[in-house]
Order: sequence, then C-alpha cells, then structure tokens
Amino acid sequence: SEIALDDLPGVGPATAEKLKEAGFNTIEAVAVASPAELANTAEIGESTAAKIINAARQAADIGGFETGDIVLERRKLVGKLTTGCTEFNEMMGGGIESQAITELYGEFGSGKTQVAHQLAVNVQMDREHGGLDGSVIIIDTENTFRPERITQMVNGLSEKYGMELNPEEFLQNIHVARAYNSNHQILLVDSATDLANELREMGKPVRLLIVDSLMAHFRAEYVGRGTLADRQQKLNKHMHGLLRFGDLFNACVVVTNQVMSKPDAFFGDPTRPVGGHIVGHTATFRLYLRKSKGEKRIIRLVDSPNLPEGEAIVAVTTAGITD
Ligand code: ADP
Ligand code: MG
Repeated sequence: SEIALDDLPGVGPATAEKLKEAGFNTIEAVAVASPAELANTAEIGESTAAKIINAARQAADIGGFETGDIVLERRKLVGKLTTGCTEFNEMMGGGIESQAITELYGEFGSGKTQVAHQLAVNVQMDREHGGLDGSVIIIDTENTFRPERITQMVNGLSEKYGMELNPEEFLQNIHVARAYNSNHQILLVDSATDLANELREMGKPVRLLIVDSLMAHFRAEYVGRGTLADRQQKLNKHMHGLLRFGDLFNACVVVTNQVMSKPDAFFGDPTRPVGGHIVGHTATFRLYLRKSKGEKRIIRLVDSPNLPEGEAIVAVTTAGITD
C-alpha cells in the first residue's frame, strides 16, 4: 500500500514499529485486525485500536460497498479445479477455487504432497475434464517434488479418461524451484510473478501455485519466543504475496502445512495447523488430512467462507488420488 502505518491518526513511530513487529505491516493487515488483537500487540487501549482500524479501513478502501451483482460478476471468473475425487469435489462446492488460498494440513505421511502433485496434473487438463488449461509453479521447501510421481498420475488420468496423455508435456508445464530458507521462499513469490507474466504472454497461464511446505523453514529458523513476532511479520508478508498472486493470475494457491498437538484442547482432536492467526486468517479454505485404513485418507473441510464443514474419503494409489 502507498500509505505508511504512521500516517494513520493515533499511530506514532513507536506504535507503528510495534505493529510491524507483530506482523501488521500494511494498512490492509491493520484494517482486518480485531481491536483486541491490535490493542494487545501494540500496547494501546481498545478504543484507540478501534479508531486506528477504522482509519485503516478507509485508507485501504476496504470498507466500501458494492452490490451483489458486481460481486457475482467477479465470482464468475473463479475457476474450480477438480481434485479428481467425487466426494472431495462435492465438499469443495465443485473443486479447488482460484483467487483463494487452500491450505492442506496434516501429519507427516497424511498425503499433502500427494494431493499437491495430483492438482499439478489436473490443472493442466481442459475444462471439460475439470482442469483450468493452466501451467503450474511449485515452491518446494522440503525437496519432495518427484517428476516420476507426476508421470504415474498422468498415466492414471490416461487410463481414467481413455486418452493418450503425454507425461513429458505435463512435466514441461510444471515449474519447480527449491526454496533454501524462508527469505528465499518469500522472494520466490516475486520470481513466480515474473514467470507467470511471461507464461501468460506465451499462452500458458499459471493457474496453480503450490507452496510445499509453507512453514517448514519458518519453524526451523525462528525458534524461541523472542523471535515469534519477527516470524509472524515475515509470514504475513508471504501470505499476502500469495493472495496477490492468486488474484493477479486468477490462480489457485495451494499451501501445505505441518501440525502440532495443542495440549490445552479440552475435547476433540488436539491437532492444529502451525502458523498462528496469520495463516488462519489468510487461508480461505483449510483442509485437514488424516490417515485412515491402508491407502484411504480422510479430508476434512475445517474452514470455508461459503461451504459447510464436511469430510471426504479419498485413496492415495499409484494412479494418483482417487475415489
Ligand atoms: P505428507 O502429508 O507428509 O506430504 P505425502 O503426501 O508425502 O505425505 O504422502 C506419503 C504417502 O503417500 C506414503 O506414505 C504412501 O502411502 C503414499 N504414496 C506415495 N507415493 C505413492 C505411490 N507411488 N503409490 C501409492 N501411494 C503412494
Ligand atoms: Mg509432504
């Protein structure tokens, strides 16, 4: 945003600094915060916080109204990418949406990377087959991208649809970069934007950006309480970079996330995604993957702006993610 935080009434340099440290480093981030959240992090009163939030909303021009038909018009551009699974698609209201971040979280081996690979194949299919005619960018932080797995999944689709799909061509439309640390990971979103602009010119628009995994570097690098604010600031920047990419290219953004066990959960499953409120607020759809019997996986839609919570069962097979 063009406006600096300390241009807001009630925000001096010291408060601006505290807000930035807590990850509220843009007007937009402040505009969508809750007064309690802001009051806590910036050590100000809640009524002051509310005034700052109102000013940020006006400055960011996000408090404006538009009529439902205009919103509907924009929503019509939203693409739905097939997961390849009937239940999973139904739970998602058709498929994985573009212009949004979908988070896949779950324990090691729950199938996050497998689903990401499958989407990287599916998105290349034409719309008749649930794809978005798009190419793919993958930011790989754990070195788990496997071209051999893409080949298996393309062969799986050839079988499913009775078509002769060429795995080589699919691999040529997947652009992978290893991220060596969290700063590099953030920078790669800028590189991805440059690449996506080029690919758009070449008639190969990027319709899927994958970050696998979102938090691994951040968790490894920022250890200890004192570094948490710094981490959240970087993470906030990263998440907003990803959202912007999705909007700019009408692309699906899919991130995988690790989990931790929250011992203070009094009932239910204590497994929670890592990354705190910043990831929680920026991810549009949150999906929780769990191992079940053998190749079966349970995928639960935990958070969505417009869909009911639900569960879908899928299978991870050699041919890919299937019913
Ligand atoms: P994570 O959630 O940690 O990213 P993965 O997506 O890597 O988990 O899932 C790993 C699991 O996927 C393996 O334990 C195995 O069950 C399954 N899997 C991986 N490759 C294949 C394959 N070629 N055929 C069948 N299942 C596979
Ligand atoms: Mg993985």
